[in-house]
Amino acid sequence: MTVTITQHATCTFCGCVCDDIELHDDGVKIIKTKAACSLGTSWFLNHTAERLYPDALIDGKEASVDDAVEVAAEYLHRANMPLVYGLSNVTCEAQREAVSLAEKIGAVIDSHTSL
Ligand code: SF4
Repeated sequence: MTVTITQHATCTFCGCVCDDIELHDDGVKIIKTKAACSLGTSWFLNHTAERLYPDALIDGKEASVDDAVEVAAEYLHRANMPLVYGLSNVTCEAQREAVSLAEKIGAVIDSHTSL
């Protein structure tokens, strides 16, 4: 097995954009990281370009995006303490929409980095 080492790779997972990551790959996948935090390491080692899920799920079952949005709106409307959580590995536009939604429903916002 030939291992290639890439220096100064950038991690885009949480938004801190650490750019001093060392990656080791075997030509197919990343097999080792250096200088990435636990979140970044997990992302580099496990994230794939494969499409693993449909566009939307309701209770774990495939659904249309329209139906999923409807169900999500019902959950949020009924919530006593809504939380907008995650926001990693998404575009600035998606984060802006999430913050806008949180403001409209009086939600708390948190990212996965609080882990
Ligand atoms: S997930 Fe970790 S390594 Fe990646 S950008 Fe954030 S802090 Fe840096």
